[in-house]
Amino acid sequence: MPDAKPADSAQHPDRVLAELDSWQREVRSQFPIFAEAAGEAYLDSAATAQKPQTVLDAVHRYLTTANANAGRGTYRWANETSALVERCRGRVRDLLADPDPERSGVHFTSGTTEALRRVALDWLVDTLADGDEIVVPAADHLANVSPWQEAREVLARRGVTVRLVEMPYEPSGDYDIAALAGLVGEHTRFVAVTHLHHVYGADMNVHRIRRLVGDDVVICLDAAQSVGHLPVSVADLDVDFVAFSGHKAMALPGIGVLWARNTRGPRYVHRGWEGTPNTAGLVSLQAAVDWFDVTGLDRIARWTVALGARLTDGLYRLPSIQVLGCQHSLALDSTVQRRHGLVTFRHPGISSADLGFVLAEHGLMVRANAHCQGPAGERESSVRVSLHAYNTVDEVDRLLAVLAQLDDSLTDATSYR
Ligand code: PLP
Repeated sequence: MPDAKPADSAQHPDRVLAELDSWQREVRSQFPIFAEAAGEAYLDSAATAQKPQTVLDAVHRYLTTANANAGRGTYRWANETSALVERCRGRVRDLLADPDPERSGVHFTSGTTEALRRVALDWLVDTLADGDEIVVPAADHLANVSPWQEAREVLARRGVTVRLVEMPYEPSGDYDIAALAGLVGEHTRFVAVTHLHHVYGADMNVHRIRRLVGDDVVICLDAAQSVGHLPVSVADLDVDFVAFSGHKAMALPGIGVLWARNTRGPRYVHRGWEGTPNTAGLVSLQAAVDWFDVTGLDRIARWTVALGARLTDGLYRLPSIQVLGCQHSLALDSTVQRRHGLVTFRHPGISSADLGFVLAEHGLMVRANAHCQGPAGERESSVRVSLHAYNTVDEVDRLLAVLAQLDDSLTDATSYR
């Protein structure tokens, strides 16, 4: 794929950051955790996002006024709880711009990992036949690799052989669509993809997959890093399954979603007895969706893309830092790859673990390790900085200043020898 065009001036990151400055201040003020954390910068939202006051209030209100089990009682609290489960399904459909809510299914899970595994073990293993092929993105998150391997093993035990085709990648970390074209064919039944990459921070342009595989192949989208960060439209992407985690989308941990289109292949059915739903989690998810509506996912995306561009540009200016993934795709109007406020890098002279400790001493909370990438992913660990709407320009500049200082001191030390 070609690199993105340079940003036009109206879309220049600094302009976007200036334009949205007062909006962002208001957004940040809605997160009580930051009032308690003066001097600390939370830069690990890809791991889990912080929660706005409205989400915390909704959970508190529910647990102190109407807490009951769902679908099991005849009294008011139980009825209210049952209704909230259905309301939450509706709000998830709204969030995903579901074009056919009569047909689709919204199933609640503990998170993305469980949702993807459910697709593999509750649906895929009963759908595939001997000789079928599925495409697996082996440099994406392990949660989007291991379920498909598990499905293959289950099928092998039944005497059904399916082939896993490894998704090819470009050096930028984007899917290599030209190479993929040579790997898919009449036996391809299922393609697993990720919307935003959790290491490279890039939009993986999954709309290209439908064009490539045609109308019959089922596409399963890991949207763990995109839901809550930008508008996600299942209508536009034309995917068949979507999995995401509430906790990365400003809701509580322990609640996740599996959305199923149910138009290609058999209808998805959640297997087994589901037990009591995570009602407080559902309340938090609904409140988070309401918060996104009010705050504006478009603006959240513009802010985090612009802030991510400032961060990436700053990292490029530091001679030793090696930024992973897409290198020239920061234009806000790019239709190719675009970073969504997530940048991963290494320093050749400092291990990523040490870098993580040093940054933590400066109050900069980043993620330093291998990031649970699949078997075709990076071999060396790295430092990941991931941003959300509550992160500020000042936090990014502080991080860059600390890295610049480290870089200088290391260059001085090396030149002495
Ligand atoms: N997929 C991606 C792209 C992720 O980044 C993550 C978590 O970091 C997951 C899946 C797994 O999410 P969870 O642990 O919430 O199930």
